[in-house]
Amino acid sequence: MPEKHSQPVADPIDRQALIKGAKRIVIKLGTAVLMKDEGGIALSRFYSFVEGIAGLVKSGKEVLLVTSGAIGLGSRTLGLTSKPKLLPLKQACAAVGQGRLMALYSDAFEKMDVIAAQVLLTEEDFSNRRRYLNLRSTIAQLLELHVLPVINENDTVSTAELEMLKGDHKEIDIKVNFGDNDKLSALVASKIDADLLLILTDVEGLYTADPRSGPEAKLISVVDNFTPEIEQLAESKVVSDKPGRGGIKTKLAAARIASQSGCATIIAGGKTENAIGRIFKGEDLGTLFLPHGGLSGKQKWIAFATTVKATLVVNPGAKEALKKGKASLLPAGVTEVKGTFERGDVVSVAGSDGHEFARGIVNYSSDEARLVSGQHSEALDELKESRNYDALITRDNIAFLDT
Ligand code: GLU
Repeated sequence: MPEKHSQPVADPIDRQALIKGAKRIVIKLGTAVLMKDEGGIALSRFYSFVEGIAGLVKSGKEVLLVTSGAIGLGSRTLGLTSKPKLLPLKQACAAVGQGRLMALYSDAFEKMDVIAAQVLLTEEDFSNRRRYLNLRSTIAQLLELHVLPVINENDTVSTAELEMLKGDHKEIDIKVNFGDNDKLSALVASKIDADLLLILTDVEGLYTADPRSGPEAKLISVVDNFTPEIEQLAESKVVSDKPGRGGIKTKLAAARIASQSGCATIIAGGKTENAIGRIFKGEDLGTLFLPHGGLSGKQKWIAFATTVKATLVVNPGAKEALKKGKASLLPAGVTEVKGTFERGDVVSVAGSDGHEFARGIVNYSSDEARLVSGQHSEALDELKESRNYDALITRDNIAFLDT
């Protein structure tokens, strides 16, 4: 077991109290820990996860499981000798595998007196606010009934995650793609106000260097802040669980989303014996990312749930005023309108250096915003019947990404 290392934390945290006090927990199981290297479910590990989760449910915790494995199981069932590469085949595999995956979970949990429910989600279920609110109440109802939601992406109809398999996933910005089950688990955790997100994967956590590089690589026990040094660890390909979709980069991005939503995250090795049971008994496994709350439900939705395709670039004065939290984004502050959007869409807000620091719901379309950008708010009068608010984005509809 590598020596442990902690980022300096302002106040010493009681890791055990934090984990034991977590009432609502999201657990993410990736393909890398569910499947054997040669294919097929790693059954003894699978049953150990089920046992761990059932134990938590019975102890009164509200647990949601986010699971991968549908494509892997489907391709094995279909007797494919190599990983499916084309999208229709991947989606066909998911259609074959998802039912089987769910059957395995339902049977296994039933033996432990826990009822499991299948929930399949796509990006739109988060980006469309009505669908999201609906999803939230369904999940709340399931939890009230002490049912365990077993969640996966609806791979047969959703292409975002599967398309990632075509290229190098490390190139893809997690914020603009629904992407992978790491992000899915973070969105679920954020949306349902979870206290703890546990991502079990085939690495032991976040290391100070590539763990294969030798003993100087240390496992980081606690991360308090997403400093540039911590972010850099993802870039330097410290660890990557090959059989799954996301590497450490998507896991770190997931931890960041959860943290900004006030939810702690643990990234830990799922191949460690009885990992779930041991973590909840307080054993110091994996890397714990501390929560830093602050975003309201609506802000979380703006910040994380949407696929954002357009950007408003603002001048330094506007950026400063926005970041103080008291100003709306007026036309005068905007220097460039990039992309196309309609009134009511979520757009990115970037500084003159191009760095996205916020997102917000716009009151005008991109054509209208172009007409008035850089001008006094009176220019909005020219828009006649589409004239509404004085601001392009009203203060209440802005969420900041760097907290
Ligand atoms: N949804 C995919 C599956 O069930 C896995 C995605 C992932 O590993 O992130 O096969």
